Amino acid sequence: MKKVKVNENCISCGACTAICDEVFTFNDEMVAEAIPENNNFEKMNDSLKDKVLEALEGCPASAIEIVEVNDCDCDECHCEGCSCE
Ligand code: SF4
Repeated sequence: MKKVKVNENCISCGACTAICDEVFTFNDEMVAEAIPENNNFEKMNDSLKDKVLEALEGCPASAIEIVEVNDCDCDECHCEGCSCE
């Protein structure tokens, strides 16, 4: 499955959360992250996918990725055995 993630390049500019707050939020350290319950790209409707892609293309730090996650059927990022860390 494909999941949305924010990598360590995030500069906390806020563009992604402004474009798509259904998927992106800021964590306690004020770094953007994809909301674990909403980061499954394949489960999104077309409208939401378009917003995620708009955020990805507009990210000034190339910090947003859509990654293929193998052997992981969970709805959480960073769980044991999950390769989306
Ligand atoms: S648009 Fe990119 S750099 Fe800006 S907050 Fe989102 S992930 Fe971080």
